[in-house]
Amino acid sequence: MSEEKRKLQRRKFLKLAGCSMILLPAAMIATDRASAQSKVSKETVKYQDSPKDGKKCSACQFFVAPGSCQLVEGSISPDGWCSLFAPKQS
Ligand code: SF4
Repeated sequence: MSEEKRKLQRRKFLKLAGCSMILLPAAMIATDRASAQSKVSKETVKYQDSPKDGKKCSACQFFVAPGSCQLVEGSISPDGWCSLFAPKQS
């Protein structure tokens, strides 16, 4: 991922999190290290179990097969989607 794209992704995530003092450290860690303790809730990122505009988790760079995500907590459907979607780099 290019540095510019990484910065844009982080900016989008921080905007969604509202830059709260609680979520800011989690956001920084999630985008840089993606540790299990720093995942955000499905509600925060408007997760849904179905694709949106043809975009789905299995095509996202944060998806971890068969059913989890580097950034979002809980079980993740390959056909799901959330506002942090970022297409895999080819
Ligand atoms: S779309 Fe959201 S929930 Fe799905 S893999 Fe990407 S970041 Fe995770």
